[in-house]
Amino acid sequence: MRPSRQARDTRAPRRDTSNQLDGSSVRVANPAPGDPPRWVPRPGYPPTIGERHGTMNPGIPIHVEKDTTLRAKIHDSCGLTCTFCHNEGTPVLADNHHRSATSFVASGPSGRVSIYAATNRATFLPAAMPDNAEFGIALASLRDALDLSEVHLTGGEPTLHPAVAGLTKIAAAAGFRVGMTSNGERGDQVLADCAAVGLDRVNFSISAPPPLNSRRSSTRATASQPSPNARSTP
Ligand code: SF4
Repeated sequence: MRPSRQARDTRAPRRDTSNQLDGSSVRVANPAPGDPPRWVPRPGYPPTIGERHGTMNPGIPIHVEKDTTLRAKIHDSCGLTCTFCHNEGTPVLADNHHRSATSFVASGPSGRVSIYAATNRATFLPAAMPDNAEFGIALASLRDALDLSEVHLTGGEPTLHPAVAGLTKIAAAAGFRVGMTSNGERGDQVLADCAAVGLDRVNFSISAPPPLNSRRSSTRATASQPSPNARSTP
């Protein structure tokens, strides 16, 4: 069983290199009560800029723990066109289904974007996750290999997946806590069913609701215009 946060904080002092990218010094993460955080130069390394200028004490508590969540992009479709969309690192399917991996584009006629498409070197296009035994086997394999405890359903917009409740049920049956990030687009039609079969929580990502946009900002309205191709590739 994992120790509680309180239990972890009272363990013996440990070294934390989480904000030292070059590894040249380590910070005593939890010094004695009342003592400020301390930085200890690592033998063989020159002092860092922070150490030279005496600014290596941010005074901000740092806690690092392993993330045991698996993000599952269950399909690509979405009815919004947010200008900051990372699309889970994959090219927008509606704009690339006719392209080869060497000619993927980050934006196209759909109005949607995938802001890292030019740099993340994805060589495949996203597809809809099937709610079948294969999905359960894949989840179980990843759970066991990486010691995972949670599946977070994403897209695109997960509530537009026609079998989102089935996928939720499979993930819950595999022993996962199941979460979802959604703009709520079809939530009224599917979230109750998802909750009934194991959906534990929803992070609502409501970036630019259309009525608000149309009254206040044309820029925001652009960010939320329905994509003409959004539902054509579920
Ligand atoms: S709602 Fe989410 S998935 Fe859809 S375009 Fe906006 S950021 Fe991307």
